[in-house]
Amino acid sequence: MTTVQERQPEQHVFEADVSRLLHMMVHSVYSDKDVFLRELISNAADACEKLRYESISKPELSSDGTQPGILVSLNAETQTLVIEDNGIGMSRDEMIDALGTIARSGTKAFMERLEAAKAGEKAELIGQFGVGFYSSFMVADRVNVISRRAGEGEAWSWSSDGKGSYHVVAVDLADAPARGTRIILHLMEDAKKYTSKWTVEKIIRDQSGHVPVPIRLVEKEG
Ligand code: ADP
Ligand code: MG
Repeated sequence: MTTVQERQPEQHVFEADVSRLLHMMVHSVYSDKDVFLRELISNAADACEKLRYESISKPELSSDGTQPGILVSLNAETQTLVIEDNGIGMSRDEMIDALGTIARSGTKAFMERLEAAKAGEKAELIGQFGVGFYSSFMVADRVNVISRRAGEGEAWSWSSDGKGSYHVVAVDLADAPARGTRIILHLMEDAKKYTSKWTVEKIIRDQSGHVPVPIRLVEKEG
């Protein structure tokens, strides 16, 4: 058996379009950064829905009796915001595919419009379109995703500073959700407000009120 110490993180380079998108987002003058939370919560809710759907033919995937849920934890001391779901999770290959390439249809067309747009119009385009997972890098200078796919006996960690590459490594099951995905955002200096419970509660209420999965918000210390 491989021990944790022996596990070497594999480095992967982002697909060129992802690098372009990340660069544009980090350097955009887009002020409404709150949308990152809407995107991550919507992914978490989608993951719970995918689990429900796959469980119809494979009930063992969610036979632990847990109800679908999303947990958002804030920590002002470590300047982190963590969002965790107990949905379908991602295998190693799914992670590399989903978080290293642009699979979304329409994203490429959107980027062409974005590159052609004037500064003032860019903000509006980003807001209208919704840039998905990569919007995390508008508020975080490092993002770590730890995931365990339903029914699998291994868990994986994906991490990146959004500057061209990311690392993937196996993690101990004890350090991963029992099932689903944990996304840890190391917030930038100017994004500290996202550790305030009051602020985050309001954003969730305003943007994610319709989400069909219960969302719990907690503040942590240390
Ligand atoms: P979209 O949601 O439109 O597919 P995103 O950029 O928001 O695009 O997410 C990309 C992909 O990453 C998703 O389609 C999904 O496969 C994967 N993903 C992101 N977040 C999660 C999550 N919490 N659980 C499982 N898969 C996820
Ligand atoms: Mg999404």
